Amino acid sequence: MKQFQYVRPSTQQSVLDAIAKPGTKIIAGGSNLVDLMKHGVMSPDKLVDINKLPLRQITPAKGSLHIGALALNSQVAEDKQVKEKFPLLSQALNAGASAQLRNMATVGGNMMQRTRCPYFYDVAMPCNKRVPNSGCGALEGFNRMHAIFGMSDKCIAVHPSDMAVAMAALDATVVIAGKKGQRRLPFTDFHRLPGNTPELDNNLAKDELILAVEIPDNNFAKHSYYLKVRDRASYAFALISVAAALDIDNGTIRAARLAMGGVAHKPWRLTAVENALIGKPATAASFEQAAQLAMQGAKGFKDNAFKLKLAPATLTEALKHAAGLA
Ligand code: SF4
Repeated sequence: MKQFQYVRPSTQQSVLDAIAKPGTKIIAGGSNLVDLMKHGVMSPDKLVDINKLPLRQITPAKGSLHIGALALNSQVAEDKQVKEKFPLLSQALNAGASAQLRNMATVGGNMMQRTRCPYFYDVAMPCNKRVPNSGCGALEGFNRMHAIFGMSDKCIAVHPSDMAVAMAALDATVVIAGKKGQRRLPFTDFHRLPGNTPELDNNLAKDELILAVEIPDNNFAKHSYYLKVRDRASYAFALISVAAALDIDNGTIRAARLAMGGVAHKPWRLTAVENALIGKPATAASFEQAAQLAMQGAKGFKDNAFKLKLAPATLTEALKHAAGLA
């Protein structure tokens, strides 16, 4: 591993000053970054450890819940307010990684984690995300875990987070600090599609810091479900996952929030399907119809065409669980 410097500033301003210099990277739990450094995929000159910043709190804010960027995945999953108000988020977090990793990984780090495309991790292989314009090993290679929505001819990788899928469905907002002050970004705009710049995973500038994620209050707690289909029951990334949340009044759907994981370079929000479900009876037939609508524009590759059938089946099943029909 390349030698690097390590600093641990204690104020937000000193973190912002440090990350303004080229070659620096923020480290929090380190559960992805350290792996990437060991593999030689990322080689920062300097690590800026932000664990001294007071960003670990989970506190009610006006009409929302404020979750600090350094809150641990396990802490958020077990938090009483999260379990009561947003059980979907708690389920998604508990579906991710292993207990040991959840005890180290932070909310901000979970959002910033990089794809698990094997060609990205193998520095002997071409990968436009790791080395722009070097080619994409997955396009003609082994692409069983890869995208069926929103990919480009430069990259077909998927974002690996479960937490992010739930946050996208729950209309969360990301609070960001930079040199010019704070800004707020809808969670669904945080991650990017690959386009011609697959090296960029998200819209956070290099000199910006995630402070928190805020989730607005909602009426979905009674009818929500996170369903993750994967190769083994623990410590595996999603082939397909679905975050489903319904507001049901007397058997009729008043509102829906839906996002899929394991299918795109970002959590894949299903707004058209949500709108189509409004006013429909909360029945298996409505959910099966909605699931077909969700697949418009999907495209499979050599090894992942099975996702074209698995995705609508998973969506239907998640909606049935959310509605209490499963
Ligand atoms: Fe790299 Fe993306 Fe291609 Fe994987 S799919 S090899 S991450 S460019």
